[in-house]
Amino acid sequence: MELIPRVDPILQRIRLHDDLATVEAARCPGCGAAIRVDFWPGGRYFQVRCEGRILHRSVLQKIDEPPPWWTAWMFKPVESIITRFADEPHPGL
Ligand SMILES: [Zn+2]
Repeated sequence: MELIPRVDPILQRIRLHDDLATVEAARCPGCGAAIRVDFWPGGRYFQVRCEGRILHRSVLQKIDEPPPWWTAWMFKPVESIITRFADEPHPGL
């Protein structure tokens, strides 16, 4: 995985609570692939990633007020260690 270059405008759209369709319409600035947003259960942390072959991602973001649609992109923990800390990101991220 590599960091998404020039991702700030996408992060800003999420922080300004742009509607879901607008955020989904954004393409990865690094490779042009579709982007996804993973919100952790609790809605206080998120990460933007792309679906391209390089798997660009942003660094983990903390947000005080998630956009109204955040549960649509809620990350579903499947690993026990992540489930245990479900409201907070895994410490290794
Ligand atoms: Zn990409």
